[in-house]
Amino acid sequence: MADYIYTMEIRLTPDQQRGVALVQDIARAAGMNIYLTGGAVRDIISGFSIRDLDFTVQGNPLKLQKELERAGAVISSADEDFKTVYLRLPGSVRAEISMARTEQYEKAGKPPSISPATIIEDLRRRDFTFNAMALSLNPGSRGLLMDPFNGAADIEAKLIRVLHNYAFVEDPSRLIRASRFAARFHWPLEERTQARFTSAVENKYMEYITNRAIGYEIEQLAYEDDPLHILRVLEKEDWLKVLNPRWTTAKVDAAGLGQLLKTRQQMNELGYSPDPAPAVLYFLTARLGEKDIADMRKLIPRKDLVEAWRDLEQNAKSLAKRLTSKEAATPSRTWKLLSEARPEMILFLAVTARQQAVVQKIRNFFTKWRQLQQKIPLPEMTELRITPQLPEYPKIAQDVFMLLLDGKLRSRTEILRFLKPLAPPPPPPPPPPPAKRGRAAKAAAVAVLPAAAAPLTGKKKGKGVVAPATPPPAKAGAKVEPPKPPASPRPAKQKEKKVIRAAPKKVKGKKRR
Ligand code: ATP
Repeated sequence: MADYIYTMEIRLTPDQQRGVALVQDIARAAGMNIYLTGGAVRDIISGFSIRDLDFTVQGNPLKLQKELERAGAVISSADEDFKTVYLRLPGSVRAEISMARTEQYEKAGKPPSISPATIIEDLRRRDFTFNAMALSLNPGSRGLLMDPFNGAADIEAKLIRVLHNYAFVEDPSRLIRASRFAARFHWPLEERTQARFTSAVENKYMEYITNRAIGYEIEQLAYEDDPLHILRVLEKEDWLKVLNPRWTTAKVDAAGLGQLLKTRQQMNELGYSPDPAPAVLYFLTARLGEKDIADMRKLIPRKDLVEAWRDLEQNAKSLAKRLTSKEAATPSRTWKLLSEARPEMILFLAVTARQQAVVQKIRNFFTKWRQLQQKIPLPEMTELRITPQLPEYPKIAQDVFMLLLDGKLRSRTEILRFLKPLAPPPPPPPPPPPAKRGRAAKAAAVAVLPAAAAPLTGKKKGKGVVAPATPPPAKAGAKVEPPKPPASPRPAKQKEKKVIRAAPKKVKGKKRR
């Protein structure tokens, strides 16, 4: 059996891995069996990037909400009817926890009635074979892949296949999903699936799509890597107008969307991971009327996504205002302000800002100012014992950077002049070796006597007994530890060694007699 836990662990981001551990532990503590399911398993096996985590539990996940929040998750919304919790795990990991269920479709256009079920029964109610797999996260079977429809083989063959003949009749939103996955993966529909798809189109099954499914599919567009491409495909299939009757690709701000995705990529490269979903929806619907947008928002299941989309313009406006106020009067203050701002807001503002001052400040934040960090003289700071072990280190490094930003420190000499008074005192020298007793001690004393009588090098006092036995500091430094600051305890140790080595010679000599 393939080791899917290993595959999972190497494919998930560190935040996603922590997210899996967090949800798994909470579900287990509540006595629920838990599985990773759906798109996450598909993407682990297929090698596509894993965009979100879908969990299925045998039990009611709504009961886990408090524990999840206590562990740092943010509940986006909870669907009482379908027993599903939409959440964000620490690190902005999007996740969904559903109850394992069966679905009975009784009336076209109406949501199915649901009942609790086992994981295998749950996999049977899903859309496509590649989405009907589960990976056990339970002790005893952790890593076991459940793949009752041979989805792994369809991934291998790059085919989109429905689970049964009634898939599109039961839930016509699967037609949209089929087009969306085909557009994203560039995989064809398997032959019989294609036949069912064509028949569903001819029979106008789409008229029976539920509002819940519409909302769910609108939301999914926000997470696509190339949403405009998906929108074009949906438009060609006539599905876009299902999501909103007036939605066409002409309503998209394509230039803004392109800029958004480009800036997001640049931010990712700098280590920021802004969630672009609200801004993607903003640009995808940029030229739609207020009412259409409001209608779409009502249907989207994740309420925090809707709020973020709704508040985008207002939040960007207030960030722009702060960037042109006294609060951002200097580069260091601007840096602080932007460092504390939500990456999503910087992303959106970077694309939409019209004021030159705002545009320039964001640009400096991402390029010119960042490069100044390289001017912080780390080797010299180490020599001055200003190292990360020092409690004040973050503040000192931050202060240097702020002064560099504001042009108050320019040259290396100026930086060192600033740093020197902040250097901690050198560590105390190591304690002298324990006093020798008896003959050996006497012998040691004799051994050092001539050296002690030699002129002092002027280097160290207190350790007068050993210091003269060493070469002058400059030479000693060159021989022993060149990069260490002169006050380093190392040379002292070397000196002691020499003295101790000298002692046994005399003792030996005595013994021979
Ligand atoms: P992605 O997030 O990459 O778009 P996904 O497969 O995770 O893909 P979601 O919309 O998050 O898509 O759905 C999660 C899982 O729920 C799916 O993999 C599928 O198993 C199931 N699912 C979603 N919608 C339907 C549906 N309409 N009919 C049957 N199963 C569905």
